[in-house]
Amino acid sequence: MILLVAADSSVAVVEEIERAVRRAGGDPSRLTAGGELAIAARGADPARLGRPEGVRAILRAASPYPRAARDPEARTTHTTVVRIGDVPFGGREVVLVAGPCAVESPEQVDACARAVAAAGGRVLRGGAWKPRSSPYAFQGHGETALVWLADAARRHGLAVVSEVLDPATVPTVAAHVDALQIGSRNMQNAPLLRAAGRSGKPVLLKRGMSATLDEWLLAAEYVLDAGNPHVVLCERGVRSFDPAARNLLDLAAVPLLRARTHLPIVVDPSHGVGVRSAVAPMALAAIAAGADGVLVECHPDPGRARSDAYQALDLDELASLGVAAATVARAVGRTLER
Ligand code: PEP
Ligand code: MN
Repeated sequence: MILLVAADSSVAVVEEIERAVRRAGGDPSRLTAGGELAIAARGADPARLGRPEGVRAILRAASPYPRAARDPEARTTHTTVVRIGDVPFGGREVVLVAGPCAVESPEQVDACARAVAAAGGRVLRGGAWKPRSSPYAFQGHGETALVWLADAARRHGLAVVSEVLDPATVPTVAAHVDALQIGSRNMQNAPLLRAAGRSGKPVLLKRGMSATLDEWLLAAEYVLDAGNPHVVLCERGVRSFDPAARNLLDLAAVPLLRARTHLPIVVDPSHGVGVRSAVAPMALAAIAAGADGVLVECHPDPGRARSDAYQALDLDELASLGVAAATVARAVGRTLER
């Protein structure tokens, strides 16, 4: 903290400011720049210090992620509203984002889109390029899948989000979707973050599977610093020691992020837990914890899904989740329109 001293302050006033810094646990040292006096108050507790007489302004150390950070002086937990298509994230509405892990065929994605809209969902998700752990697993149908995805979304009145894996395909994906998803494996891929930032499309930024909240917000800062203010954060679980679940869904991240950032926060319990029966309960818990949206995977026939079959809800389960999610949203003062 730097205390800028008013120009007409007497020696006695300056000495009293230094005593106030010491009483607040700090170690004062004088600085002069351009003939002006300032006092560095290293280690002082801002709450105990207050603003001593003779101090005209207090400069605080900038946040490492100044664009993502909540204004430290703000007394509210206001969230910036980010629109994906015409769907607002960060307002009173809790948004249901759903769809298949991978877009497999026009029929499959259309059946999902119909069910998503009927369940109260507003955004259709679906992978066209899949970041599979194995190079021998289904990698996605690429741009063809984006056409099927966007057509299905349009038919059912949904916005659309899909993952982009590398900077070279950002323009292609951006041409078909309302938002670019950056996946867990790419959260710290700086060239991709910058390219997505330059695209101007909203970015759904998933948490890296071993990323701290600060690392995640620094990744968001790359997109924001590229001139793109439309970032939605998506918690999707972190690696843990216990193989009972695919990941450990970190719901505490929702209130902890809320205190640190003004960006909207979505939770993905599908990748977060990876077990179908646990997806709906954790989606409801995420809404109760204050998430601005939930993202879940669904499939008309989960057992035959070409990726992430164990975590896909069938379309009846998605419908039930929509009903329960609306109830929980109402219980915490939010809405989820159906
Ligand atoms: C996905 O959403 O399909 C996906 C691959 O997610 P994540 O990056 O969270 O693993
Ligand atoms: Mn998936």
